[in-house]
Formats: sequence, structure tokens, C-alpha cells
Amino acid sequence: MELIRDRGALTRAEVLDITGLSRMTVSGRIDALLESGYIVEKGTDRVTGGRPSRRLQFNTAHAALIAATVDTTHTTVALTDLAGNIAAEERIQVAVADGPDRTLHAIIDSARGLLEREGVPAGQVGGIGISVPGPVDPDTGRPSQPPIMPGWDAYPIAEHLRDALQIPVLVANDADAAALGEQRRAHPDSRSLCFIKVSSGIGTGIVLGGEVYRGADGGAGDIGHVKIAGHDDMVCQCGAHGCLAAVASGRAIARSLTDIGKPANSGSDVGAMLAAGDPDAARLTQAAGRVIGEVVATVVSLLNPAEVVLGGMMASAPLLAGVRETLYPRSLPRATRHLTVALSTLGERAAIVGLAALLVEREYSASAVNAALSR
Ligand SMILES: [Zn+2]
Repeated sequence: MELIRDRGALTRAEVLDITGLSRMTVSGRIDALLESGYIVEKGTDRVTGGRPSRRLQFNTAHAALIAATVDTTHTTVALTDLAGNIAAEERIQVAVADGPDRTLHAIIDSARGLLEREGVPAGQVGGIGISVPGPVDPDTGRPSQPPIMPGWDAYPIAEHLRDALQIPVLVANDADAAALGEQRRAHPDSRSLCFIKVSSGIGTGIVLGGEVYRGADGGAGDIGHVKIAGHDDMVCQCGAHGCLAAVASGRAIARSLTDIGKPANSGSDVGAMLAAGDPDAARLTQAAGRVIGEVVATVVSLLNPAEVVLGGMMASAPLLAGVRETLYPRSLPRATRHLTVALSTLGERAAIVGLAALLVEREYSASAVNAALSR
């Protein structure tokens, strides 16, 4: 099951070769998976080179999934297949500052509406994944002292959603989910990728060996609160002084723009000005990119990733240029020789793809499928 899910289309002969199991064992397991709809067999019975060309594939229509990405300005709820392809999505006007009760209630309403409009019966939904802009404890699945999520610390998000929707729930950090989505969809051959999200805050998702690295307490990659020398006068949302997010986030750029007479309230205002080609927004975003690049140089030296992907509302040519300006001179040549630094091509959808991948890994693991088959 995991072999077919992760490697893509395989013939029965290839499964035999790779697993080294007996023909009878493989055939019994494949038949059980086919009968229960976990995998499908595609292609023709036409024999090429002495072998039938029918291939076994993970059935991405086995169930539907719901993915909800909670952000600082809005929330997106999507209905996807098991590959993270979006069938329908809705942007709802609740954000992390609205607190968990109101936000989760709106997500539940939106999910029910999407299922009804798309005609998906409740029994056909394999789970819901939700991403939040803060650290998530890997053991409890609860937000772990999130700096910019008032009211969410240790909130039982999974229990709340499970009670309402009666389906499995997965909670993830937004940059972690986006990093996995970028790796799976845009860089499937990459073994190590860092996704730097620059929006109202700044965070990093790390994918090593094809899996999200979360750290002991879910705090890996939380670079937004690294202290930047010489900026002790800048107060961060977390209450400390001189954090990277206080100096270089979308919120910080918005404040700088306001100071020079171009009112901007938030990262999304700056994003709109960047999209409209505002030269001051571009200049200040590039300057922010230079500060971010200094911190990313440490990340790159530590992890030696193959890809650094920049995403979030500030992701733009000026941000990319700024990051490159400081990242390369401050990193060892060995760490950057094969490094690609690029803008996200998936945008907001990266986290949705990543949430679907995380749900599939858990709900369609060998042990989960074995348990379901023996019931
Ligand atoms: Zn901070």
C-alpha cells in the first residue's frame, strides 16, 4: 500500500521485485486493496515485452478531504481529493485574531456548505486538516505558545472539529504544511526544502527526507522571533524587542510605508501595493528581504537544503532579490553551490496540498489500512 502510494504507478511484477515477497502474498494483498478501493488498476491488458502493462495506483478518489488554512487576514476552506487537487474552495472572513471559537465555527459551517454544494456525502470524507500560523505541539496537536494567536494556546482544535464533523482531524503549522505542499507538488525529487513564509509574521517549514521536521516542541523553523542586532527599539507582536518579524515582516513593512506617508495597515495592504508596482513598497520589501536573508543564511548553513522557497503575502521579486543579496555572501559556498532560491509557484494552495499529504500519510498508512481491512 505505502509502496504504491509513494512510488506511483507500479506493475504487479515491480511490486514483487521491490518487496521480495512471494507471488501469492503480493497477489493476496493487492486483491484486498483493489476490492476495498484503496488502489485501482489502470492501463490495458496488452502485453508489451512479455508483460501486461496494467499498473497499480493509489486511488485518489477513495475519499474526499477538507483542508482549512487559518491566516492572519482570512481563512480558506477547500475540498480536495487524496492528492490535494482542489474540487471547491471558499475564502471566509475569519482570521486567527478572531479566536478559536469563532474561527472553528466558521470553518465547520463552510466545510458543511462545500460538502453539500459538491454533493459529497459525509461518509465519503476521510478527514480534515487545519493549518494555523503558530507552532503546534507534535504530541498533542495543540498550538504551543503561539506568539501571534491570542486565545489559541493549547486550545483543543482537533477535539472541537472532531465533535462537530465526526471525522479524523489533523492540526499543522502553516509553514510546515506549505513546505510539504511545495515539496510534493513543485519539487517532488527534492530531499531537503525550506519554505520561508513572509506575511504578517515570518516562519519556516522544513522538509527533510520527504518529511516535515517539527522539532522537539513543534517550534522548528520559528525564525520570526530570532533577535536581530541593532533593532532593540522595534517591538514585536510577541512582546519582545528586535525580533526578525518586528523588523522585516509584512506588518513591519506596512508600518514603514505608513511612516513615509503611504498608509498601510497590514501585510496584505503591502501585498496589494507590491502587486500594483508601488516603488516604495518594492524598495522597503527588498530591504526586508536583506534582513531575512541574513537569518536564512544561518538556516542554509545548518541544513544545506536543495531548495529555499519564499511564500506568503510578501513573496515578490523585490523580496527574492533582497534575500539573495545577503544570503549568498553570508553562506559557505558549499551550502549554496546547488541551492535554488525561488518564489513559491503554488501560493496559498501550497498549505492545502501539504495538509492533504499529511492526512493521507496518517489515514492511509500501512497500519491504518491494515486496521480498516481487518474490521
Ligand atoms: Zn517576536
